[in-house]
Amino acid sequence: MDRLTDISTVKALLEKHGFHFSKALGQNFLINPSVCPRMAEACGATADSGVLEIGPGIGTLTRELCRAAGKVVSIELDERLPALLAETMADFPNFTLVKGDALKLDLNRLIAEQFGDRPVSVCANLPYYITSPLIMHLLESRLPIDSITVMVQKEAAERLCAKQGSRLSGAVTLAVQYYAEAEVLFSVSRGSFMPAPNVDSSVIRLTLHKTPPCEVADEKRMFSLIRAAFNQRRKTILNSLMGAGVTKAAIAAACDACGIAQTARAEQLTLRDFAALSNAL
Ligand code: SAM
Repeated sequence: MDRLTDISTVKALLEKHGFHFSKALGQNFLINPSVCPRMAEACGATADSGVLEIGPGIGTLTRELCRAAGKVVSIELDERLPALLAETMADFPNFTLVKGDALKLDLNRLIAEQFGDRPVSVCANLPYYITSPLIMHLLESRLPIDSITVMVQKEAAERLCAKQGSRLSGAVTLAVQYYAEAEVLFSVSRGSFMPAPNVDSSVIRLTLHKTPPCEVADEKRMFSLIRAAFNQRRKTILNSLMGAGVTKAAIAAACDACGIAQTARAEQLTLRDFAALSNAL
C-alpha cells in the first residue's frame, strides 16, 4: 500500500471495504501528494518526537507522520475506518489508533499514557464542522505540546490568525492569541481533496506560548468580556460589555483606569487591553 494519493488506489480501497464518505463527519481525504510531507515537516516531527493526529481517515497524512516521527497516535471517531487503517498502516509499527471522539477524550491523560517523556506536537487535517471547538479544546486543555499544525478552511485560517484591528478578527482570534503564536503556512486548493469541498483550505501553525502574553487574574472573566464585545462588534465597548453582566458605570470606570477609550470597538482592543479591563473590573 504505497500511493494513498493515487485516486484509483484510494477508490479501490474504499470500494473493497464498502466505504462511503460521511459529510457529517467532515470527511474530505487528501489526495495531493505534496501536502502531507509539507505538513509533517511543518509540525517539526523528528525520530525522537511524538505526533498526535485527529481524524486519520484512511491514513494518508498519518503515513507521512509515521515516516517523520518516533511515534504517532491518531484519534478516529468513524467506526468503519479502523479496518481500512489496519491495511494502510500495517507497515508502521510506530502507529497507534485510538477510537473515540477527540472532543470528549481526556487528551492530557492520553498524551501522558501514549508518549511519556517525548516532546509532542499535534498535526491534523481537521474535520471542518468542529474546527474552532477542537482547536479551543486543544488549547484550553493546556496539553504538554509544542505546536498545533492543522489544515482548516481558508476562512477559518484567516479568522484564527487575524491581526489585531482586522475586520476578520473575532473572539476566537484573541483566545488563540492568549495561548499561542498563530501563522498561516500555505494554501491548499479544494482539488487536493476527495471529495472536493466547496472552499479552499490553509495549513496553519499555532506555536504555544511558554508563558502567557499578558497577566490576567480571572481568565474566564476576560473571555466572557471578549465574547460580549465581539458579539456586538459594531457597538462601543461601553455598551457591548454590558452583555457580560457589567454595569455601564463599572465599564466606564475600568476604561478610564486602563486608558482605553469608552468609544472603542472590539476589534480596536488588543488582548492586553481586555486583560487590563478584566483585571480592573
Ligand atoms: N487525515 C485524513 C486525510 O487528511 O485525508 C482525513 C481528514 S478528514 C478532513 C477528517 C477526519 O476526522 C475523518 O476521518 C473523520 O472521520 C474524522 N473525525 C470527524 N470527527 C471527529 C472527532 N470528533 N474525533 C475524531 N475524529 C473525527
